[in-house]
Amino acid sequence: MIVYNTLHKKKEQLIPIKEGEIGMYSCGPTVYNYAHIGNLRTYVFMDILRRALIHEGFRVKSVMNITDVGHLVSDADAGEDKMEKASREQQKSPYEIAAYYTDVFFKDIDSLNIMRPDITPRATEHINGMIDFVRRLVEKGYGYETSDGIYFDIEKFGDYGKLSDLRLEDQKAGARVEVNSEKHNPADFALWKKAPKEHIMQWESPWGMGYPGWHIECSAMSLEYLGEHFDIHTGGVDHIPVHHENEIAQSEALLGHPAVNYWMHGEFMMVDGGKMSKSLGNTYTVSQLKEKGFDPLAFRYFCLNSHYRNKMNFTWDAMESSQVSYRRLLEGALAHKNGDNAPEPAAQDALKAFFEAISDDLNVPKALGVLWVLVKNPHKSREIYDALVKMDAILALDIDKCAEKCDNKADTQPDIPQEALELLQKRSEARRNKNWAESDRLRDLLGEMGYSVVDTKEGAKLVRR
Ligand code: AMP
Ligand code: ZN
Repeated sequence: MIVYNTLHKKKEQLIPIKEGEIGMYSCGPTVYNYAHIGNLRTYVFMDILRRALIHEGFRVKSVMNITDVGHLVSDADAGEDKMEKASREQQKSPYEIAAYYTDVFFKDIDSLNIMRPDITPRATEHINGMIDFVRRLVEKGYGYETSDGIYFDIEKFGDYGKLSDLRLEDQKAGARVEVNSEKHNPADFALWKKAPKEHIMQWESPWGMGYPGWHIECSAMSLEYLGEHFDIHTGGVDHIPVHHENEIAQSEALLGHPAVNYWMHGEFMMVDGGKMSKSLGNTYTVSQLKEKGFDPLAFRYFCLNSHYRNKMNFTWDAMESSQVSYRRLLEGALAHKNGDNAPEPAAQDALKAFFEAISDDLNVPKALGVLWVLVKNPHKSREIYDALVKMDAILALDIDKCAEKCDNKADTQPDIPQEALELLQKRSEARRNKNWAESDRLRDLLGEMGYSVVDTKEGAKLVRR
């Protein structure tokens, strides 16, 4: 298998450290809010990678952290802890906030057929490992204490910036107005923060009460679960210049050698051509997709149409056409399922081409092209259906459930009052006109009458709540 390694900026043959095994770490969510569909695109990429590795015959150990402390509002180690901010705003303890959003996160990834990682360590349950990590860095001369925390001295680490080609000099020259004058270098980052009294989550440490920096969490937890040297580390591209540079600096400073062989990054999901982010208020969640009648797997299908290293743009129009294509795919698969048993050589050729594309740095769009040619094959054959199901080991689009999913016909609904059916019709019209506000309003009205709207292949239908 060939993968693109951000560290060397090129595609490389994937050679595991231990034959037949892959250790893989993925930066997980900060659980102070719902994951948005941009975040989820990155986890779909992680999932495709994991499935491809399994298909190649590797035993994969996959670890993804849950950040429930220490991720500050600003990447420059300033501002409030995101968890504490949410806790203040929502009048709940940070632990309640974390428990709630972690639970929703797992449900979201389940609905997108993203396999749960083997281990999902929570930062708050690994504080001792982090303190130990920081203590050893201080002992080795890489960490120093200031009045508000322990910082990593990037000047001591000669290789700082190798992942993103940052030059220390440029960093110094372009540094933001520095809020912390005690830092030796503006790009030095917090390993440990001393907690002000009001900080709810705090732990005893050699430097008094405090909490870990965000970057140390990933270094400490990957060390604990994958050891000093593992194969693959994934995340979104926004993590390259700060979070992952800092992880590299901490881990290599402590260990004296690189911890990770292959760094792989997923590109961003944009929205209406611009950046999607929680702070801009233009993010969407899985529940919003569902409320609008979209199958979460139609969103997965949408993600698969772009290569993971290309930006993609989310619009509701694009989402609509993905839903249509996804349904056509299921219908196409069903036709082959109901096909004959005569041999069909196209099936084996397509399987070969499909997996070749996947092995080439996860070229899923190309693989999907191969799949579509096969779906459209005029000879409807069981052999093709079997090939599609094999491809679905990577795509995870529930192709083997095509019969149930296509059989979702709207009935005549004789027991539903005319008034409700008329509202339903108006809603369908509003959706056809892409008038989402109106369609949402009508759905809410129906909700008040005690009906949920379910969008099926045959059109929308009502289900009594
Ligand atoms: P966070 O919860 O903010 O730490 O982000 C979780 C993951 O989502 C990280 O791997 C980010 O790099 C990634 N991410 C954040 N925003 C986007 C986006 N718009 N598109 C794709 N990935 C994103
Ligand atoms: Zn991380």
